[in-house]
Amino acid sequence: MTDTLYSIRMRASLGGRHIAGAERIVSRNETELVTGELVARAMTHERGTPDSVAVTVDSLAGKDISRVSALPVRMYETAGYIVGRAHAVRELARAGVTDAAARAALGMITGGASATGVNMRGAMVIDAETGKRLEPDKEAGVRARSVDYDPGFVPELKQALVRHRLDGTHFREALALATKVAHAPGIVAELCISDDPSYVTGYAASPANGYARITPLKETGDPMGGRAFFVDAARFDMDAFIDYMRETPVLVTGPLDIR
Ligand code: AMP
Repeated sequence: MTDTLYSIRMRASLGGRHIAGAERIVSRNETELVTGELVARAMTHERGTPDSVAVTVDSLAGKDISRVSALPVRMYETAGYIVGRAHAVRELARAGVTDAAARAALGMITGGASATGVNMRGAMVIDAETGKRLEPDKEAGVRARSVDYDPGFVPELKQALVRHRLDGTHFREALALATKVAHAPGIVAELCISDDPSYVTGYAASPANGYARITPLKETGDPMGGRAFFVDAARFDMDAFIDYMRETPVLVTGPLDIR
């Protein structure tokens, strides 16, 4: 019998503002270790010491687990964040996002995308044609959860990340998330800029072109960041999209193609 898996979610906030979050899928005997690691990460976060940390552990027994290959990764280093953002807009255009929609998303992410002008804890959902925001809750956005790497793939993943000097948690977690997002019904592309002031790398990802890791997408010390999920409004069902993002467990496997 295979071991039951558990989805672990962490969300940390300070004065109601999002500080940090993380999603994992682990076996029963890893739950204590991983919840401890995630609480420690939240309590030492560079965005501040949270006054509230929520950790949820949910059994995935009886759920169908989807296994998908990691998006192929291409790495781009640009002369500065303005060039980096222009490159992100081009990557999004190649995937089918209009210039207007890409620029609207960038403006909202860098200006504070929540209804109160701060970072959101989830992502905006944006019409890839018009740039219109579609998510029902503009404060929280839509959070993807229940995603991690297949344990059988982790040794190969670790080796590849060390070889490419990508062995921090940011890239590792972002690639898993972007891979899940790229399989969502109606998705066209995704744009991410971290909200950690010291982490200036971001990405544009799509099912068509994979994961473009772009450095930098912001200035060091800038606390603004966020995510945009661009969708094809003509073949889009918000309930099915949110249900997939929240409820479908996804384990990311190889092969890993990083260049
Ligand atoms: P991070 O890459 O963790 O620095 O997150 C950057 C931004 O992406 C956050 O400010 C959130 O708005 C958004 N975000 C983080 N995690 C998720 C997630 N699991 N699903 C959707 N959006 C997320």
